[in-house]
Amino acid sequence: MSKVTLIKGDGIGPEVVNAAIRVIEAAGAAIDWDEQVAGVTGVERGLETLPAVTLDSFRENKVCLKGPLTTPVGSGFRSVNVALRKEFDLYANIRPAKSLVPGGRYDNVDLVVIRENTEGLYAGIEHYIDTKRSAAESITIVTQDASRRVIQFAFEYVAQRPRQRLTLVHKANILKYTSGLFLDVGKELASDHPEIEFNDRIIDNMALQLVLDPQQFDTIVTTNMFGDILSDLCAGLVGGLGMAPAANVGQEMAMFEAVHGSAPDIAGEGVANPTALILAGALLCDHIDQAVVGDRTRAGVERVLLDGQVRTPDLGGTATTDEFCDAVVGALERIPAAEAVG
Ligand code: ATP
Repeated sequence: MSKVTLIKGDGIGPEVVNAAIRVIEAAGAAIDWDEQVAGVTGVERGLETLPAVTLDSFRENKVCLKGPLTTPVGSGFRSVNVALRKEFDLYANIRPAKSLVPGGRYDNVDLVVIRENTEGLYAGIEHYIDTKRSAAESITIVTQDASRRVIQFAFEYVAQRPRQRLTLVHKANILKYTSGLFLDVGKELASDHPEIEFNDRIIDNMALQLVLDPQQFDTIVTTNMFGDILSDLCAGLVGGLGMAPAANVGQEMAMFEAVHGSAPDIAGEGVANPTALILAGALLCDHIDQAVVGDRTRAGVERVLLDGQVRTPDLGGTATTDEFCDAVVGALERIPAAEAVG
């Protein structure tokens, strides 16, 4: 039995995390959950946004399932999500987006965005240039080392995919030093991996191409901010934010979450789509050597979504989070434990 740190998170977090736990346990996951708090929920309980006990739990268990944590726009505390990624050097953020809902905008989309997770514009080096706030500046940091490790990770990841195709996304025509450095490292590593089809796209063209013809791409590797934006776009191609899981992976530690935030507009209503968190739970199971459970979980979700009878409102249905969860658990009962699903 693996011990895993659990942070249910803010807003819709507890609703979707509870659904994910129910589903992966029904799929056979053997996990000893070590529940901790962070974010607004931590502050409401008189703790820090990132309490030391939460950090210690993750440091010890090395694996975490995390619900979304609220980050106020503009003022207030800095992002707890970003702080967690930085504290544990979770340098690669893997965000799969796969069509599971027939009748959506596109069929047969199967994309993975791998986002550099520790630097770029997220380095947090921002300030006003004077006391009158007449202007502000932000510095983007791109290093050889961080670029190399995430791009190398992407090459190794893409080698496991059926289509061995990697697209590096940048803005090297304008950001010649920072984006240019990332592109140069990618080209250098590409020469070590001749078996992988490698190309690059400028970010604005990539956004256009993804909307026009997403099936031409497979795995995308890019810097932090571009990855943040492109992964929401990719989620939109396959049904929306409720569908997109994410894994944050470092040398030794990994944290699994949804791409979406805490969605305060629908929090407490019981209508959030738990698919992203359930699929994040499946990725966690793969990571802790319970890949059969991961496969069963994905198969259960796919059956319910393909069947189309039970869908949450974001996908045009009327099901509550619990009803969707019941349907997936019901589907799992009809999937034999040994059935491997690709
Ligand atoms: P953050 O800054 O934390 O990313 P945000 O408000 O910018 O937060 P989200 O919380 O991701 O972005 O949500 C954007 C919108 O997408 C929400 O208003 C919500 O209606 C919808 N949404 C996000 N996640 C889900 C979900 N799991 N199920 C249904 N709708 C969702």
